[in-house]
Amino acid sequence: MDKRIKEALEKEKLRQQNNVELIASENYVSPSILELQGSIFTNKYAEGYSGKRYYGGCVNVDTIEDLAIEYATKLFHAKYANVQPHSGSSANMAVYRALLKPHDKVLGLNLSHGGHLTHGHSINFSGLDYEFIPYNLNSETEMLDYDAIRELALKEKPQMLVAGASAYSRAIDFKKFRDIADEVGALLFVDMAHIAGLVAAGLHQNPVLYADVVSSTTHKTLRGPRGGLILTNNEEIAAKINKTIFPGIQGGPLMHVIAAKAECFYEALQPEFKDYAQQVISNAQALAATLKEEGLRIISGGTDNHLMLVDVKTTFGITGKEAETILDKICITVNKNTIPNETESPFKTSGIRLGTPAMTTRGFKEQEFIEIGHIIGQALKNKDNLEILESLKEQVLTLTNRFKIYE
Ligand SMILES: *Cc1c(COP(=O)(O)O)cnc(C)c1O
Repeated sequence: MDKRIKEALEKEKLRQQNNVELIASENYVSPSILELQGSIFTNKYAEGYSGKRYYGGCVNVDTIEDLAIEYATKLFHAKYANVQPHSGSSANMAVYRALLKPHDKVLGLNLSHGGHLTHGHSINFSGLDYEFIPYNLNSETEMLDYDAIRELALKEKPQMLVAGASAYSRAIDFKKFRDIADEVGALLFVDMAHIAGLVAAGLHQNPVLYADVVSSTTHKTLRGPRGGLILTNNEEIAAKINKTIFPGIQGGPLMHVIAAKAECFYEALQPEFKDYAQQVISNAQALAATLKEEGLRIISGGTDNHLMLVDVKTTFGITGKEAETILDKICITVNKNTIPNETESPFKTSGIRLGTPAMTTRGFKEQEFIEIGHIIGQALKNKDNLEILESLKEQVLTLTNRFKIYE
């Protein structure tokens, strides 16, 4: 291997081992998933779908894709699955292109209130190709306001309603979205990228029961390889989605990633995965409670899922960007994040987003998250005291040293 590439790999291994990873969208995959994603399936071209390929020699990749579909549909109680999207964004592009015409009207959660770029941001293809109308969180409760969404839907009469978020710490009631969609004659599309693992474990309402179509990533709480997934119970929609993914927007599927996705769905079907997902939620609650003790304000007052948004601006007078930099110095990785009714630019922000999926995989329980919560509070309060920061960093490294990744 090239020396410089090898060196970056070794340094990244060390960083992943040493740091407390609190980025809510990250996780550590199992050795089996790692092996499959680095496997010889990467050598195979397989344009098309199982049994209908444009290339010979697809007997084994057909088995792999069939297994991925079998496990995915079982896991999420769906009739149809497309496991070929290269990413969550590609999955969403396929959903829009399959079911909408250019410039159709769509309602989606405002990016600065926790939505995703692909839910209609003006610089994203979604915002360029369709007429997105953003809905906001309630400014008092900082939660979804179904009455306000209903009113907006009645006024705008959109072709599609998008539910789902990247930075929202509360349970989402997809049935309420279904009722609104039915009332205005819109399609309901749920993007469960962040919470898919909780849904798989039966710890969050399953959107497949209510939505016309559901997309997801496989690499967040679901703990699989980096990739996308689309589910539906509607045969006609399934056919449109398949045509849109290939030949519509993608070429050859990443069969090594699909093999790893199959293993990811298989792992999520095991009883241990439910214990994992429950621990993710318990850990998030322990972390949120500790941060509150440290004087930090949690957006909406708490969390029902794997993540929380923390307002560092009103409590400690620093921006999200500053908080991210301070925590990075003591080997805790987080991301700055806008909060509802944001007053700072998206490059500075007033908040940080913290999630528990990755460290829960490494074996952290409530006790470790309470310790981390206090470390975060102390670091932000003593941001200019190098001595204190150094001793907090030592505490972090002692902790992570006890929880090895990839023996
Ligand atoms: C992460 C995420 C995506 C996009 O996933 P990529 O694989 O990064 O393209 C889409 N939607 C939501 C809600 C997400 O959180």
